[in-house]
Amino acid sequence: MARAIGRAKSGPTRAHVRRGDVVVVTKGREKGKRGKVKRLVGGGRVEVEKVMMIKRHTKPTQKNPRGGIVDQEGSIPLANVAMWCEKCAAGRRSRKVVDDSGSKTRVCVKCDNPFPTPGS
Ligand SMILES: [Zn+2]
Repeated sequence: MARAIGRAKSGPTRAHVRRGDVVVVTKGREKGKRGKVKRLVGGGRVEVEKVMMIKRHTKPTQKNPRGGIVDQEGSIPLANVAMWCEKCAAGRRSRKVVDDSGSKTRVCVKCDNPFPTPGS
């Protein structure tokens, strides 16, 4: 199902979070919930684990031969999520820090606690 919700004009979404990042929802119905970024959706939206759960009425497929009602994450706007900082216990923006060897790490703007890089 391809639904265009406020789709950006063109080009890739410049997101402040990555897949696998732990984020907190800062606005809307699911405010305060935390979860991992499951997928970046086009149009500046994001799916977060266990946030904005929706029920999809699916037709039987080979993978799911019975079909039926499936719980699934719905997307929320990227602007409504922030990186979760363990040390601050709050949603924070990230800043990039380049070390001597030239590799970049993302740190919390408030406390300089590094955010874990997913998949490493
Ligand atoms: Zn922090």
